[in-house]
Amino acid sequence: MPELPEVETIARGLAKRVSGDVIESVWLGQKKEPLKSSAAEISATLEQSRIAAVRRMGKHIVFDLAPANGRKPNSRMKPKPFQQKKAQWIVHLGMTGSLRICEPQTEIAKHTHAILKLSSGRELRFVDPRRFGRLSVSTQFDAAGVEPLEVDLDRFLTLFRGRNTPIKSALLNQNLLRGVGNIYADESLFRAGLRPRRRASSITREQLRQLLLAVKQVLTEAIALGGSSISDYVDAEGEEGFFQLQHRVYGREGEPCLVCKTPIKRVVIAGRSSHYCPSCQK
Ligand SMILES: [Zn+2]
Repeated sequence: MPELPEVETIARGLAKRVSGDVIESVWLGQKKEPLKSSAAEISATLEQSRIAAVRRMGKHIVFDLAPANGRKPNSRMKPKPFQQKKAQWIVHLGMTGSLRICEPQTEIAKHTHAILKLSSGRELRFVDPRRFGRLSVSTQFDAAGVEPLEVDLDRFLTLFRGRNTPIKSALLNQNLLRGVGNIYADESLFRAGLRPRRRASSITREQLRQLLLAVKQVLTEAIALGGSSISDYVDAEGEEGFFQLQHRVYGREGEPCLVCKTPIKRVVIAGRSSHYCPSCQK
């Protein structure tokens, strides 16, 4: 499942490759699950719109749309509800979703749910075998929570101090920080020396400062690594190798801690596996 760094990398890659392109037409498949807005609404919003920008918000990919320039308005066309206003196409990749930039002659992959024909001659296709991904349109999309890479210490302290839940659950709470998933939560807690079960309320201000630093570090490093594999990810071949951050604790149950050699432990918190070093993390 793509986490924040992957989504950031994908959004950056798409921004480079499709910004400025105009969506000429939209084909949507018959499956209902991927469509969070109605097919009619998605088509009306996207068609004849220029992709002004592509960016990440939480784990969503946001396409900012502007009316396409230089096209004569066709009076017979249906009115486009979002065309004159700010419009956005929102893509959530779910577990297995991918956005692929293809030449039109490229064979259409199984589980293709949307095809956008671009004025550059290419197509942007949304493929999602397990159909947990979602497509929608909006005028002022706002994901819950704050951006972990942008939040400052004061805001972070306000959000996390005094919470009676395990710190791991608080990190995963999308209403606090948006987009931090299981792997990066475990890795951040290891770097900050905090056990996942620690009550947020028992963590000092200084430790929270270290934790915020660790969260930003882990995400930034993962984004830097992801950047080099972006073309594989969005190209026609889809989900080929993302360079991954070397995990220090995540998925390493029973293996020696990279710092002190103590075997890494795994516990389940709120239904999610959590990995930590019982010696380095207090
Ligand atoms: Zn250790």
